[in-house]
Amino acid sequence: MLSKERLRANLDEVIWNIEEARVSVSEHHIVKLVTVGKYSKVENIETLYHLGQRAFGENQVQQLEKRKEILVNLPLEWHFLGNLQKNKINKLIELRPSLMQSLNSIELALELNKKLDIKEKKLNCLMQINSSNNNNQSGINPEMAKDLYQEIIESCPNINLKGVMSIGANGVDDIEIKDSFETTYKIYESLEQDGANICSMGMSGDYKLAIKCGSNLIRVGSALFV
Ligand SMILES: *Cc1c(COP(=O)(O)O)cnc(C)c1O
Repeated sequence: MLSKERLRANLDEVIWNIEEARVSVSEHHIVKLVTVGKYSKVENIETLYHLGQRAFGENQVQQLEKRKEILVNLPLEWHFLGNLQKNKINKLIELRPSLMQSLNSIELALELNKKLDIKEKKLNCLMQINSSNNNNQSGINPEMAKDLYQEIIESCPNINLKGVMSIGANGVDDIEIKDSFETTYKIYESLEQDGANICSMGMSGDYKLAIKCGSNLIRVGSALFV
């Protein structure tokens, strides 16, 4: 468990970095911070809440369930970021996350929509794009992203698509990472007419660059919990 002072210093540093990067784009470019607690203890999430942070991400359904239960008295906003297995779909729906960021195939979208329909529920989602072509990340191929986004809108009325999410290339040089962010951002821009308003890119190692490439939601874990 980390001390409140330690977490405050880490959070302040991230907030200042966000501020610097976003203002370099535009004073009107607002960036949302989702803190990712997957490597961290639940006590640290509670501390971050007391420091003012409200949006938290998890990448496992079971972990999300457990933490939501423990922190039920805090008005937290939960995001799901992981690869969703078919047998966990019902559980995730019951947990009612405010945003499911990792819709990474048309099959998953159809299955999720079907289960949402049965439960008469809706879910806000982002389509995950695999914009770095040199690794085996999950996500939709950039060339197919625009068509599939529209297909999900048309065939999945219980899914509210809000935009896109992408994990930057884990290459060694910034150029490769920047390329992948630019690919995602271009797709995002082309989807604004379809109602997309969230472009989720950037993690601990690359969030400043992601913001400069147009990201308006970053997901930061390890930089906070050191
Ligand atoms: C773990 C994770 C993050 C946070 O990663 P850090 O490098 O620890 O900041 C962000 N997004 C997703 C999808 C993740 O799984």
